[in-house]
Amino acid sequence: MSLGTSSPDPLAALSGGAATSDRIRQVTLSTLTLPLATPISDAKVLTGRQKPMTEIVFLFAEVRTDDGHHGIGFSYSKRAGGPAQYAHAKEIAGNLIGEDPSDIGRIYQKLLWAGASVGRSGVATQAIAAIDIALYDLKAKRAELPLAKLLGAYRDSVRTYNTSGGFLQAPIEEVKERATLSLADGIGGIKIKVGHPDSRVDLARVAAVREHLGPDVPLMVDANQQWDRPTAMRMGRILEQYGLVWIEEPLDAYDAEGHAQLAAALDTSIATGEMLSSVAEHVSLIEHRSVDIIQPDAPRIGGITPFLRLAHLADQAGLQLAPHFAMEIHVHLAAAYPREPWVEHFEWLNPLFNERLETEGGRMLVPARPGLGFTLSEQALAWVSESIEFS
Ligand SMILES: [Mg+2]
Repeated sequence: MSLGTSSPDPLAALSGGAATSDRIRQVTLSTLTLPLATPISDAKVLTGRQKPMTEIVFLFAEVRTDDGHHGIGFSYSKRAGGPAQYAHAKEIAGNLIGEDPSDIGRIYQKLLWAGASVGRSGVATQAIAAIDIALYDLKAKRAELPLAKLLGAYRDSVRTYNTSGGFLQAPIEEVKERATLSLADGIGGIKIKVGHPDSRVDLARVAAVREHLGPDVPLMVDANQQWDRPTAMRMGRILEQYGLVWIEEPLDAYDAEGHAQLAAALDTSIATGEMLSSVAEHVSLIEHRSVDIIQPDAPRIGGITPFLRLAHLADQAGLQLAPHFAMEIHVHLAAAYPREPWVEHFEWLNPLFNERLETEGGRMLVPARPGLGFTLSEQALAWVSESIEFS
């Protein structure tokens, strides 16, 4: 490991701790738009609340230090919010220059105070998330460890399931074919979307996929918040026969009480949390005993710093963990969760990176590379529409 090239006296650096002499020299923020191969529809589109999704906007943060260490992190938004994340990050990123990159807690707090008037959730902290994730990436790379190991891993692989093959715009035959391909690729479970305005369509699709997979393949459904309480209870009771691993987002994301009623009434586990944008919002789910399986998304709740805070609370409450989206980050965070988690497999982000996550025997392997283990592809750089550097 390098002691650092900028210190005039290596022994002085050693006595002070080599890591603490290093300082953040440069921060680069970039925004890019990732086009999706097919327009994507979940139940929010079928109920008319959203349009099919055709692209995802990313905020990337790259942090460099005097000693030449480097970290990369990202945040993202679907349909709206990307320009706002980028704008807020631009306003606060200058605060990083000169800070010790190891002091992630202190830096997080500094960035929060810099933007205090826009709060501690949503866009404000999603802008910080890209930077926070970059700092964790940098810290793990400096330690020459995969991020999972830096955090304290419980396992070297995590159970993984496919979501991308089960959207509602896909005819059922295509859903079944994609499920077969996923399993052949070493993915362990299959999730399909439900929440169709006609419940009979949902039930026919779940029955067809369960029959196709057989009784032993883990199967989940995701209603994307489109049922009301009576519909969710009725559907939940009918779906018990299919041995689902969980029912995801049966209700509005903020209906903690409604989820608690379902969780108490049904044998099938209830999962939600992907839409929530702060630890405090997740705490409401924990306090109401709304879920069996909690589904935070590190970029959405403000980065790895708040994710870890929530993970401790969730474990203390006896909850299972199935983080939402962004498997490139979550494979590490799930590996460091005490209870056996599930990670969502989405190949959508593959064009952004030079590296690929491997799946085998139903599990996603934690990459052995240091940090998150990802570098931006030439294609990603070509998609960058705007970028700014602070030094
Ligand atoms: Mg979902």
